[in-house]
Amino acid sequence: MRSRSFEEDNARSSPLVSMATETSSCDYLVVGAGASGMSFVDTLLLHAPEPVSVTLLDKREQPGGHWNDAYDYVTLHQPARNYGVESTALEAFTQHPEKLASRDEILDYYRSLLSRWGEAGHRVSFVGGAAYDFGSASYVVDARYTENDLPLLVPPKFSVGDGVDLIPPNQLPARGAGEGRRYCVLGGGEAGGHARSELALPWANEGGRSAAELTTYVHCTAGAFNFGASAAEGRRPVFSSEGEITVQELFQFPGFCFNGAVVAWLECQRGLSLAQKNALCELPPPPEEGEAPPLGQAPARTRPRCAHGARAPIGHPLLVSLRNLRRWYATPGMGEWLHGLRLFSLAMNGYSLAEGRALVEKNCDGLVEAGLLTPPEEGR
Ligand SMILES: Cc1cc2nc3c(=O)[nH]c(=O)nc-3n(C[C@H](O)[C@H](O)[C@H](O)COP(=O)(O)OP(=O)(O)OC[C@H]3O[C@@H](n4cnc5c(N)ncnc54)[C@H](O)[C@@H]3O)c2cc1C
Repeated sequence: MRSRSFEEDNARSSPLVSMATETSSCDYLVVGAGASGMSFVDTLLLHAPEPVSVTLLDKREQPGGHWNDAYDYVTLHQPARNYGVESTALEAFTQHPEKLASRDEILDYYRSLLSRWGEAGHRVSFVGGAAYDFGSASYVVDARYTENDLPLLVPPKFSVGDGVDLIPPNQLPARGAGEGRRYCVLGGGEAGGHARSELALPWANEGGRSAAELTTYVHCTAGAFNFGASAAEGRRPVFSSEGEITVQELFQFPGFCFNGAVVAWLECQRGLSLAQKNALCELPPPPEEGEAPPLGQAPARTRPRCAHGARAPIGHPLLVSLRNLRRWYATPGMGEWLHGLRLFSLAMNGYSLAEGRALVEKNCDGLVEAGLLTPPEEGR
């Protein structure tokens, strides 16, 4: 192991950083053991030019991030073969590969990775139940940036009158359909959709009792794509000159696991400068003042729309993703790596490297022709 001091690493010419924590000394301190952090660590271990030691820290007792607190009836929305980390297929942990992976299967997968990494000779220590104070120091891998606001943990963003029965979706299975109870799901997003499908309940009225007394309100106004407080801290480069790395959304789809892998792979490239790495991680600009929807930034960033025929803004998230992809293909070795990566959507869908590259060029040309994308010679 090549340890470096904080001062030495300010120049940051090597991917190795030295970090002393209360618990251990390590090359990388990764904060957040959710899908992003686990994916970052896994790819780092696979591609680091020399062995590295990692301390993985999380407020939660176990790896797996929000899945630890997600409601029991929830599953992945995408196939298991496109979720998780680079080295290990999630499909092997699902009892019914034709169905979407359950919460317990995902947690089991993430827990098993800790021992698999150890068995493979990697030095990774997981410290659970420990919150990192981002105010006190930097020099970490911030893998909690895209953490979710879960209804269980985040209070509703509206006031609740006395006597109103308000529950998070986690409590739904225990409440059940007893006594003609009515349910009103507040929130039409991800969590609300799950809650509604869990609720195949009749809305019977009981004599003598008001509708309000009979109604349980299910708080689903926080969920999968309401990124938590960290995302509101302000946009920062993925690779900072102070040595901090922040795993962020670079590609929109397939998302979180993929982002961790891409950032880790870039971190392992000794031939790339900090500026070059950041140029390969273009981020959409932060929303204008007042532009963000009240429940977070995500809808604007993940489901952007552009009126037919209109010229999309240069920072439109899908165009940013496309530009990133075009640059990744132009980076020596990166296209080859992407097409061997189980988390990369084009590889998953059977595209060869040549086909993937051609598809991206075709899309870019088409968008330039339609006036929706700036030509590459204009600098972006
Ligand atoms: C029900 C549901 C289904 C979903 N299905 C899919 C899907 O099919 N495909 C998909 O791509 N995405 C899906 N998502 C989106 C989901 O957000 C991502 O899959 C992914 O789990 C996000 O991972 P993350 O690591 O960014 O965040 P998280 O899972 O939230 O992990 C962040 C971690 O950081 C820790 N942390 C935060 N601050 C600190 C601190 N100061 N100190 C220490 N630890 C800290 C937190 O405790 C947490 O464990 C789904 C989400 C939900 C809620």
